[in-house]
Amino acid sequence: MSDYKALYQEVILDHNRKPRNYGALEHPSHHAEGRNPLCGDHITVALNLEGENIGAIAFQGESCAICKASASMMTTAVKGKTRADAEEITREFLAMATGKRDLDSLGHIGRLAVFAGVRDLPTRVKCAILPWHTLHAALNSIASTSTEAEEDPMHAPIGDA
Ligand code: ZN
Repeated sequence: MSDYKALYQEVILDHNRKPRNYGALEHPSHHAEGRNPLCGDHITVALNLEGENIGAIAFQGESCAICKASASMMTTAVKGKTRADAEEITREFLAMATGKRDLDSLGHIGRLAVFAGVRDLPTRVKCAILPWHTLHAALNSIASTSTEAEEDPMHAPIGDA
């Protein structure tokens, strides 16, 4: 467990120092903004769908370390994937972060498993999942999403993960 925590810290720090795919896209085919009022996280995710594949993807905004690291890893995880694969990874990430499923039942998580620990930090779960909700919103042409939306995005039409 201590190795695991060390890895978690290392990955979060690394992605904060050097966030991947940070910035804006000039003419994204899909974009959305996401807010987590509990923490103050506010990010935008922009991407270009090329056919069914996610070509370029970028994020930017003001967020805490967990949200930024999650967004950075989200972009690297789904870049080049099909939209369907990206939605599947999103479902798995949400299931993992909210503790609904065990890691070994999730096939696409890979290095994202470092976020499994947030399930024990209830106040940080929404920070970790915000980028994924925002990706989901962007892929579905929903302009904005919030972790405190009337319809709780944890139960939004993202599948029954
Ligand atoms: Zn946060």
